Amino acid sequence: MTLNRIYPNQTIGIIGGGQLGKMLAQSALRMGYRVAILDPSEDAPARSTCHEFICADFSDKDALIKLAERSDILTYEFENIDAELLTTLVDTYYVPQGAKTVLTLQNRDDEKRTIEGSGARIVPYKNIETKNDLLKFIEKENYPVIVKTATGGYDGKGQYLIEKEFDIEDVPFGETELVVEKYLDLKGEVSLTVSRNVDGQTIFFPLQENLHKNQILYRTIVPSRIELFDEAKEQVALIMDKLHFVGSFTVEFFVDKDMTLYVNEIAPRPHNSAHYSIEGCNISQFDAHILAICNHPLPEVHLLEDSIMLNLLGKDLDRLENMLFDHPDWHVHLYGKTDRKPERKMGHVTILTEDIDETLDGLETTFFKK
Ligand code: ADP
Ligand code: MG
Repeated sequence: MTLNRIYPNQTIGIIGGGQLGKMLAQSALRMGYRVAILDPSEDAPARSTCHEFICADFSDKDALIKLAERSDILTYEFENIDAELLTTLVDTYYVPQGAKTVLTLQNRDDEKRTIEGSGARIVPYKNIETKNDLLKFIEKENYPVIVKTATGGYDGKGQYLIEKEFDIEDVPFGETELVVEKYLDLKGEVSLTVSRNVDGQTIFFPLQENLHKNQILYRTIVPSRIELFDEAKEQVALIMDKLHFVGSFTVEFFVDKDMTLYVNEIAPRPHNSAHYSIEGCNISQFDAHILAICNHPLPEVHLLEDSIMLNLLGKDLDRLENMLFDHPDWHVHLYGKTDRKPERKMGHVTILTEDIDETLDGLETTFFKK
């Protein structure tokens, strides 16, 4: 037996039962682990993929302790876990990811300060409290800028694009901690997914090229046609010297028009832009996460075939659900969410291809057709 290694038939407790929790659980179950999940929603996607489901709020201390008591190891599918509760859990139970990294990344100001402190490149930003602070920043950096709530944001929630003075009216000064950053005219966005086991063995997935619409990930192409893999790895190496990671995590980057790479943010958990790895790689980000937290050796990652991943939001599903299975070359994932909303992530499709451009053209007449 290797120290800190978790073996099949032991129980992995996952905080959060959304699609990420579900896909993590599917990997764990296939490897022979038992899975316990805590989620506040009665019909959480991962409810169907676990041995034990605890339906409770993420702030319910007794329920989290119950999950921990029934588990040999704890992990999470999202980063906004209550700081105090997470610290308590880490003190008493086995949480190989620890608390420090996730607590730093919960707050955009702490996150940006830490990334900047590591020597990695970030977009000019400032922590602001008042309209005057914002105006001073704009005086220096010019319009457009983007204000983001420091905590709790995802899929563009809590963001205010400021293109002219009038837009400032919407910013909720005094209600919550805020940061402002320069809004870049982007050439594109890329992300790098990494897995690291408890012993420190680290593997890199190929660079992923991401297109967002309305600040929500719309499409990922792998390998990225913006070829900045080595630069991205260098930036991530700087960050890994400052922040301790275990499991799969993803660094999101902006690429501006002159091909300069800026770190945008870090997700200390599986990430939407690496979903293609389920079919596209020899190991998925979810398998890698389970192996890494359980401290097993990790294989070098290979892209088996070029991949296109398309998210299915509620509004896409309205349009496409009757033809999703007419395309046997599409790998269709539906998360099993009962409550469909236009902008909610309901599933995704991965298409493996020998010719990215040709496949994208073909999709114009199927996926993208109105
Ligand atoms: P979230 O936590 O919601 O993912 P992000 O900061 O990653 O927040 O922003 C979501 C998306 O909004 C980005 O992927 C990008 O498309 C756009 N965006 C955010 N900040 C900027 C910026 N400073 N310049 C250009 N685009 C941005
Ligand atoms: Mg993001």
